[in-house]
Amino acid sequence: MLAHTKSEAAFTAAQTLMPGGVNSPVRSYGRVHCNPPFIASAKGCTITDIDGNTYIDYVGSWGPMIAGHAHPRVVKALQEAATRGTSYGAPTLLESELANLVKEIYPSIERLRMVNSGTEATMSALRVARGFTGRDKIIKFQGCYHGHADSLLVSAGSGAATFGQPDSPGVTRATAEDTITLPYNDTKAFNRLMDGFGNDIAAVIVEPVAGNMGCVPPVPGFLEALRSQTAAHGAILIFDEVMCGFRTDLHGAQAYYGITPDLTCLGKIIGGGLPAAAYGGKAYLMDCVSPAGPIYQAGTLSGNPLAVTAGLETLRIITEDPDYTVRVTAQTKKLCDGLRTAAAAAGVPVCIHQSGSMFSVFFTPGEVRDFAMANACDQEAFATYFQAMLEAGIYLPPSQFETCFLSGEHDDQAIEITLSAAKNAFAAVAKS
Ligand code: PMP
Repeated sequence: MLAHTKSEAAFTAAQTLMPGGVNSPVRSYGRVHCNPPFIASAKGCTITDIDGNTYIDYVGSWGPMIAGHAHPRVVKALQEAATRGTSYGAPTLLESELANLVKEIYPSIERLRMVNSGTEATMSALRVARGFTGRDKIIKFQGCYHGHADSLLVSAGSGAATFGQPDSPGVTRATAEDTITLPYNDTKAFNRLMDGFGNDIAAVIVEPVAGNMGCVPPVPGFLEALRSQTAAHGAILIFDEVMCGFRTDLHGAQAYYGITPDLTCLGKIIGGGLPAAAYGGKAYLMDCVSPAGPIYQAGTLSGNPLAVTAGLETLRIITEDPDYTVRVTAQTKKLCDGLRTAAAAAGVPVCIHQSGSMFSVFFTPGEVRDFAMANACDQEAFATYFQAMLEAGIYLPPSQFETCFLSGEHDDQAIEITLSAAKNAFAAVAKS
């Protein structure tokens, strides 16, 4: 048994200091019947807790760490940047450099605005869509999570799903009424709604590859319908690529599926592990944003030099070598193939979805194409699997409704150790 004495004590103390002992809900391990390790450090593909246990990390800070933890180039760039000051609240060349690189990688982004979190990016993109169209209503899909802005905390995934709070208290009825929710991947239901009410819709926001009900890719025709219906009705199509950006494909889900949105939200990787995100798209839309236009959005720390430095260096690492993300995707496939074989050998029915360097293991004999299907998966089997993996030194997201992430540092040895742990974990599930 791994020792968790220090983490257990730290968690008990933290619960008197922060709600649930954490600063973001899913970190509390609420649904996997144990308490979280407290983290002391991380390096490459590993993470170490305060009891000295080292794990192979598939959380990657929930997505940003595609280059691995404490990458020497990122650390060096940050050290140098810190000596020049940590924040100025004024324009810098670094911001333009990052903006240029993002535009190169995402040609649909003609202009962008940097913010501090994915929540701010989606909230601001929606404001642009509403301000531009003069319409109030938006469409989002059940099980997609777009951060915790009021209008998006309706039928949300991630922690909201893990803790059974799809609609949060504190979100007013009037706000919720402007958010129409539909099942993910239900092209027919979407077409029906747009045929009836398309001219009232300001925006359709979607995770083009869902990652917050576990990893669920779009079915053929779904994203195409979003694009053609929004174009036909003058609504804005927003791709929330905060999670799948740079992962489904270096150039995002929009390149992988060949669908160009009007606005894109990016986060996680763009900050390289520091707080940064961005929204951007067509120039005629972005030029509505203050001070170029009347739609207000601002931020004291937006474009922070340290965050931009970490993001810029991370993006350089994954773009300078044109095969970088291709290799991480290949390692992810190797792992997913091995997990399927191990589950089958143990007689445990699973559905494993992969998109680039993201994947999820669902405990179900069926398919998972939407939130209802993800919800119907065996959560107790997941908890057993999760605990067995943690005990074997594999650090997974502690919920069936989350996605696992790989980095360029997950080498063959890491995959082998993970698969060997998974063999025993699936055997534990079979026995339970
Ligand atoms: N959109 C998506 C797709 C996300 O996965 C997340 C966070 N997991 C967000 C938005 C919100 O980002 P943040 O937590 O940085 O506010």
